[in-house]
Amino acid sequence: MKTIALLVAAAGFALGGSAFAKDEPPKAAMPAAKAAAEAANPASTKVKEVSAAITPDAAIKALKDGNTRFTSGKMVKRDLRKQVATTGKGQYPFASIVSCIDSRSGPELVFDQGIGDMFVARVAGNIVNEDILGSLEFASKVAGSKIIVVLGHTSCGAIKGACDDVKMGNLTGLLAKMKPAVASVKETGDRSSKNYAFVEKVAEANVQDTVKAIREKSPVLKEMADKGEIKIVGAMLDVTTGKVLWY
Ligand SMILES: [Zn+2]
Repeated sequence: MKTIALLVAAAGFALGGSAFAKDEPPKAAMPAAKAAAEAANPASTKVKEVSAAITPDAAIKALKDGNTRFTSGKMVKRDLRKQVATTGKGQYPFASIVSCIDSRSGPELVFDQGIGDMFVARVAGNIVNEDILGSLEFASKVAGSKIIVVLGHTSCGAIKGACDDVKMGNLTGLLAKMKPAVASVKETGDRSSKNYAFVEKVAEANVQDTVKAIREKSPVLKEMADKGEIKIVGAMLDVTTGKVLWY
């Protein structure tokens, strides 16, 4: 397990799109530089085995490292067409993300990941419903994803709408799912979207609510989390910096 983690750390977890040559010996003992080179050359990495052996903590570290690369402008150079060709044979994503639809919060971008690395469910206000929970259950229980990250973000329009009690078409019902987060934040002054600090506190509470809802409404995922097979964590993207803060 340790060697796998080293391999993944060395590779910056840029493993998406790798092929899964079954007759190759494990690469775990190779020097870090070579491991990184192997990872950069997807056709020679045993992603299926690496993904299966990865721990939830290693998966979180991989995302943290990816965000560091993103914010420092040192993203991994990927041949996306090659990743398409190799992942076409099968996928082994190590992480699942529930994020807002916001145009600034694309998970593959802010975590510097490639094709085949992550499952991503996107909905305004990063909430969960039965369909998203079912999707996450598939991702973790069937496909082997090791973490679920609920990724909120600053200046969220959906959160602002919930704060302002916006009513409009189907949006009304969606925003209602964020109302418990609005109600949970103590603020005696301005409780509208004009109060930036209030909005950010509600966004954080909403992330925590979603993390809690995943555990409470999905016995499948709760059991996996209780056994240490997966972790369910919250995080917040600052859209002014691209930096992700972890809870
Ligand atoms: Zn949003």
